[in-house]
Amino acid sequence: METAARTAPAAVIVAIDGPAGTGKSSTSKAVAAKLGLGYLDTGAQYRAITWWMLSNGIDVNDATAVAEASGKPAIVSGTDPAAPAIAVDDLDAAGPIRTQEVTSAVSAVSAVPEVRSRITALQRTIAAEAPNGIVVEGRDIGITVLPDADLKVFLTASAEARAARRSGELKGKEAGDLTATREALIKRDAADSSRKTSPLAKADDAVEVDTTELTLEQVIECVVTLIEGAGAAKAGRDAR
Ligand code: C5P
Repeated sequence: METAARTAPAAVIVAIDGPAGTGKSSTSKAVAAKLGLGYLDTGAQYRAITWWMLSNGIDVNDATAVAEASGKPAIVSGTDPAAPAIAVDDLDAAGPIRTQEVTSAVSAVSAVPEVRSRITALQRTIAAEAPNGIVVEGRDIGITVLPDADLKVFLTASAEARAARRSGELKGKEAGDLTATREALIKRDAADSSRKTSPLAKADDAVEVDTTELTLEQVIECVVTLIEGAGAAKAGRDAR
């Protein structure tokens, strides 16, 4: 991956939100690497706590049981965009959090308010401690986690484009057919958008980028340009 080929003029905090399959992760990692910023995948944190619940025999559809257990796992996220890492109770969770079992259970676990408040606190600490600024990607970053971010981007794409991208990412039998992937994605978005606590939503001051007709490189270039603009504005404010 390319590293710090361009530089953000100031240590900016960037929130990138949007539904699954819009290119959030690929874009966020690439722009962070190009600009020398940290990177935080908040979906990986919700997946990690979900994996822990499943591994410890907690019924993910029992919100009370999930809430009671939510403080137990120790979740540690790396912020290097070239090597995103996630550990749960000192175990490398990068592989297990991407299984279909976790993907199917994550919306139920992430809807539990106790889970959200715990993970949100973790995310705020990581962002506050990022020495050179950070790109934080998720669903509720611009509205709830970092409402004072220097730049908020909301990525969208048609359901067809999102399903095609997601099924390209999945390997072997996990990929299933395109229709099944599309339906699973729509179901997960509906759950994430309709939950009571911190639903997936665009902040009023977020820049919306529809990626349906764009290549990944075009989306990256667009977001890098937006960050450079936000960095220049921040540097101007800081100098005053
Ligand atoms: O981004 P990813 O698809 O890995 O996210 C997995 C799930 O984690 C989402 O479907 C959503 O339920 C949850 N999530 C969330 N808030 C975030 C990021 C992810 O609720 N900020």
